[in-house]
Amino acid sequence: MNRPNAQPVASHFVDGAYVEDTAGAPIEVIYPATGEVIATVHEATEAVIEQALASAARAQVAWAATDPAERGRVLKRAAGMIRARNRELSVLETLDTGKPLQETLVADAASGADALEYFGGLAVDVTGTSMQFGGDWAYTIRRPLGVCVGIGAWNYPTQIACWKGAPALATGNAMIFKPSEATPLCALKVAEILVEAGLPAGLFNVVQGRGAVGGALTGDARVAKVSLTGSVPTGRKVAGAASGAMKHVTMELGGKSPILVFEDADLEDAISGAINGNFYSSGQICSNGTRVFVHEDIAEAFLTRLADRLEGVVMGDPLDEAVNYGPMTTEAQADIVMRYLQVARTEGARVVTGGTRLDREGAWIAPTVLADLTDDMTVVREEVFGPVMSVLTFRDEDEVIARANATQFGLSAGLFTRDITRAHRVVAQLMAGTCWINQYNLTPAGMPFGGSRQSGIGRENARMAMDHFTEVQTVYVGMSKVEAAF
Ligand code: NDP
Repeated sequence: MNRPNAQPVASHFVDGAYVEDTAGAPIEVIYPATGEVIATVHEATEAVIEQALASAARAQVAWAATDPAERGRVLKRAAGMIRARNRELSVLETLDTGKPLQETLVADAASGADALEYFGGLAVDVTGTSMQFGGDWAYTIRRPLGVCVGIGAWNYPTQIACWKGAPALATGNAMIFKPSEATPLCALKVAEILVEAGLPAGLFNVVQGRGAVGGALTGDARVAKVSLTGSVPTGRKVAGAASGAMKHVTMELGGKSPILVFEDADLEDAISGAINGNFYSSGQICSNGTRVFVHEDIAEAFLTRLADRLEGVVMGDPLDEAVNYGPMTTEAQADIVMRYLQVARTEGARVVTGGTRLDREGAWIAPTVLADLTDDMTVVREEVFGPVMSVLTFRDEDEVIARANATQFGLSAGLFTRDITRAHRVVAQLMAGTCWINQYNLTPAGMPFGGSRQSGIGRENARMAMDHFTEVQTVYVGMSKVEAAF
């Protein structure tokens, strides 16, 4: 298959233009489907980081004073441009991540455009409140925070840049975005398009680098907020570093989410939900429902039909639109997944399907279903972040709720049942930030998304993301003489 050139114009996008500094350590961009190096970028040097911070701090002041309607128009124009260039951006996303083009054409740039359009529309609707105290009164204003830092994981590089950038920019902030070192390409395109759409220079900067670059940005006194998408251990580090200066944080972290399949569920829908919640993006999705609790009366039918449905997996060059399943994004993550599978076998898990690395170039792992599991096994407790579905069985409702909640995570949960009363009764008891009834992993821009417990703090998307990128200023207005004791 013809592969387009993935090498970006330069490594960083700062102050409205591509910027290079080859003094930074090189980062090779690997096409995960073949293991080939398809581009090289350089880690941001101190000079590039300083340029990003200084330009963001400067540009943010004027942007905050810009008519919100104009801010919104810029974001909506960018959304339109992203949609118009969807195929080109989807191909780049596939090259960056290895996710099949069939997926990226509908899920990545498209989701980024949705967020830009949604927050572009909301930009004019940042409102305060007023309170009456006799003749005196008070009112509140929502003010932007200033310079915000976004740090992304490698599974959704375009989407994460837009989900963080759009609400930040709509509310009058500047953003400096650091993509994962594994997928540095897509955020550069987002920055380029925003500027083409009319975003003034300095407001959306992209700097490349490993954790240390994220750490330098987080620690800078000019930064007011850090929004991270990443693992729980990184979240602890970043939130800890931000807390020293009382910076705002949004933490979108990992999970080990449950999907509950009751005996009256529509079996095909439940299996579709479990497939989407475990094998889409080769399982590299934070909100995946990797603990699938199936009622024991239908467990055999579920597993048999699931195995049939997995016959429909088509692997191959992810740029081929007939392919519906891709490799892991990094070799390192493929190794982690294989280690989890080894431990699962040692602890007594039965491999129903998959469980192997494919004998071909690239980081390929077959979609894997495990059964004969107990809740205390490592693969059932820990986030694997790969194509590994754990199928467990249950007998009654209270039991499965308790088991679903017996985890330190709380990102997502799903349940499948035709009993509407049970659906709402059960979902109200699940300790998870984002839940689905008879569906899984759909995340429209108008819906809050995020986790509870160790899975994070704050929410992305929906109106409440506007609150997370602003703070309230209260103004008390005295209307009468000031009384004083002396
Ligand atoms: P990591 O936690 O390893 O990295 C996340 C980002 O943080 C990367 O850009 C990384 O840089 C950077 N980073 C690492 N250390 C620091 C530091 N000390 N200071 C600042 N930044 C730092 O996550 P992965 O990239 O491996 O992504 C997988 C994880 O992300 C999974 O746990 C998954 O569940 C979670 N995730 C959560 C989502 C959500 O919305 N809740 C969505 C998607 C993924 P670098 O990679 O260059 O080292």
